Amino acid sequence: MALRLFNTLGRKTEDFEPLRPGETGFYGCGPTVYNYAHIGNLRAYVTHDILTRTLRAGGGKVTHVMNITDVGHLSGDDDSGEDKMVKSAAERGKGVLEIAEFYTEAFFRDLDRMNIIRPNVVCKATEHIADMIELIRRIEANGYTYSAGGNLYFDISRFPRYGELAMLRMDELRAGARAEVDGNKRNPGDFVLWFTKSKFENQALVWDSPWGKGYPGWHIECSAMSIRYLGEQFDIHAGGIDHVPVHHTNEIAQSEAATGKHPWVKYWVHNEFLVLDRGKMSKSSGGFLTLQSLVDSGYDPLDYRCLLLGGHYRSQLQFSFEALDGARNTRRAILDKIRSLSESAKNPSFGGSSPEGAVSARLAAFTAAMEDDLATPRAMAELWGLLRDNSAAPAEVLRAALAMDGILGLGLERGLEAQSGESPEFVAEIEALIARRAEAKKAKDFAGADAIRNSLRERGIILEDAKTGTLWRRG
Ligand code: AMP
Ligand code: ZN
Repeated sequence: MALRLFNTLGRKTEDFEPLRPGETGFYGCGPTVYNYAHIGNLRAYVTHDILTRTLRAGGGKVTHVMNITDVGHLSGDDDSGEDKMVKSAAERGKGVLEIAEFYTEAFFRDLDRMNIIRPNVVCKATEHIADMIELIRRIEANGYTYSAGGNLYFDISRFPRYGELAMLRMDELRAGARAEVDGNKRNPGDFVLWFTKSKFENQALVWDSPWGKGYPGWHIECSAMSIRYLGEQFDIHAGGIDHVPVHHTNEIAQSEAATGKHPWVKYWVHNEFLVLDRGKMSKSSGGFLTLQSLVDSGYDPLDYRCLLLGGHYRSQLQFSFEALDGARNTRRAILDKIRSLSESAKNPSFGGSSPEGAVSARLAAFTAAMEDDLATPRAMAELWGLLRDNSAAPAEVLRAALAMDGILGLGLERGLEAQSGESPEFVAEIEALIARRAEAKKAKDFAGADAIRNSLRERGIILEDAKTGTLWRRG
């Protein structure tokens, strides 16, 4: 495989060469489960999915690890503000772990609906406190820490490479005092490894440690869990662009300070932000869109996936409902074409003169686009080009399109199986009802779920619950 990736570390596009040929260790920062994911967050996970699928399509084995942050993430990545989990639990009158479980389930439901392949390893911060303590002990033993005000801090002045990823300058860091300065810090860039005197009186989760009863800083969990599952050096680490200057910068400092190995991670992949027409999408600002809100407005989650693939992951993408309408039309047009190809392919009288190699050339161009730093807009154009090539044999085109969808993940095969011959509007309506029924079942509203099933039966639609989801047919 000839994958090239833009590496934030060094800001260059490089040939991807895993540390162990044919095997990739990949860690993607996961969600802080204090609220629903917003559609901007989902852009990060679609990027991880596209990367994993591309690596696997090239024949490689990928171990994809994702953390679930259920402790220690303050509203400011630089130790400022309130604990996101504690605040959310208090607002909702629930326990922290209850909140975490609820939003973790909601998160994976969203990933499934977006056709994102689940990671090989999903690890919760609260279940890896011992790994974090062990790593902090190593950092301490190597002389990179100090205690102040009851907390244990990482001293960035002891780590000369600090800020290399973000191209931060140490002198600027020293000068740049932030809005909320923790008086215990020797340098504003220093960060907490372990809070011993709880910053918040109502901190629910605390653990014993060599530094006293307390809880970990946010950054240490990603260092500890990625090392635990992928080893002291691994291939790819990914996340949103906002993580470059603080979170990932601090992860590198911790990991390399503990192990003494450099580079900790070979390739750093960062997706740009999804922005709303009215500005930045963020949970703290209150106004954010969830996947469910798109579904409630009648869109298929894969319409949103299609919208994301229309932009390159390293370019900012502006969300609007007009753009989502465009993506929905694109996906429906693709599905229509796939269905008609499937019908033509069944007709033995079709004597299509497939020009020698035309389809394989398209497939090669598609692969080249994906391997060129995951150029999904170009890859989508190749899929279109393929589908519009009327000179090629339908069965061959169909096979190639489905192979492309193995990376794009637009659900073409499923669309083909379940609903051949139906109008896209009708399919969308039924799919939306099926999604609503699944939600009702999840919320244990079985009467609501049955009402949806019965109303569909009255319209002659039979639902069948299969392992992979609910299928429907006319009965
Ligand atoms: P969080 O749950 O806040 O830790 O964020 C989860 C992931 O979403 C991280 O990789 C963030 O960098 C990423 N992210 C947050 N906001 C956006 C956005 N508007 N667009 C794209 N990615 C985002
Ligand atoms: Zn992380």
